Amino acid sequence: MTNTSEKPTLPAVIANAVSKYFGSLQVLKNVSFTVQPGEVVALLGPSGAGKSTMLRCINHLEKIDGGQVSVHGELIGYQRQGDRLMEMSDKRISEQRTTVGMVFQSFNLFRHMTVLENIITAPMMVHKREKAEAIAQAHALLQKVGLPDKASFYPSQLSGGQQQRVAIARALAMEPEVLLLDEPTSALDPELSHEVIGTIKTLADEGRTMLITTHEMAIARGFSDRVIFMVDGEVAEDVPAKQFFESPQHERSRQFLAQME
Ligand code: ADP
Ligand code: MG
Repeated sequence: MTNTSEKPTLPAVIANAVSKYFGSLQVLKNVSFTVQPGEVVALLGPSGAGKSTMLRCINHLEKIDGGQVSVHGELIGYQRQGDRLMEMSDKRISEQRTTVGMVFQSFNLFRHMTVLENIITAPMMVHKREKAEAIAQAHALLQKVGLPDKASFYPSQLSGGQQQRVAIARALAMEPEVLLLDEPTSALDPELSHEVIGTIKTLADEGRTMLITTHEMAIARGFSDRVIFMVDGEVAEDVPAKQFFESPQHERSRQFLAQME
């Protein structure tokens, strides 16, 4: 008898002893962690800790200098040839990038395209999805992020919070294994943050795997499962969120929390 539920589930993300330099400055020092499917992990730490760089390495927007990153069991940026690891071609890298969705602080929508075009372009170009199917999916995603009537708008006609929700819909359209969100609310006024936080919480409730850098307590404390706290390019704590907020182990964590509140 076969039982598919017994299939071992691969971790969504593994960072293993990752190091990264910018010139002579080492910004990631032996960073290791694992994100399991369905987990929401808040990647916290002071400015300059290396959080954005770590997210960019998972998406291969930055090349790492040591260690390995894998997404759903697949090494990022390298492929095996016999027992050797070879760097991937640019084409293979862009295919691999589609397994990781990324949402940026500054939204990064295509300004000359409507909301609908922003969402359907990559699925059609990269996944070769039929236009009608891509459009139907885009409408469903706009419904999910609470913008069912904005398909024909241009980004400039939307508030920051609406633009960020379109950016989330665009990332989801590629059906990524994991969604990385880099300070998704920090460019927004508090009242607009609120609607983006609501959207991210909906995704969390659906069991989406997410790794989020944020200073927003409503995300980090409100619904994250785990906190990875980074300082100076290193992981200082990697604990259940409740434990991080109730009994932080490190002096730097305590300082950080004092600032957040
Ligand atoms: P965080 O997101 O935690 O604030 P970053 O990952 O943005 O931290 O930056 C970590 C360190 O790397 C900082 O010292 C920053 O100045 C440096 N850094 C980031 N990107 C670059 C880059 N492209 N070139 C040189 N240094 C960089
Ligand atoms: Mg950052």
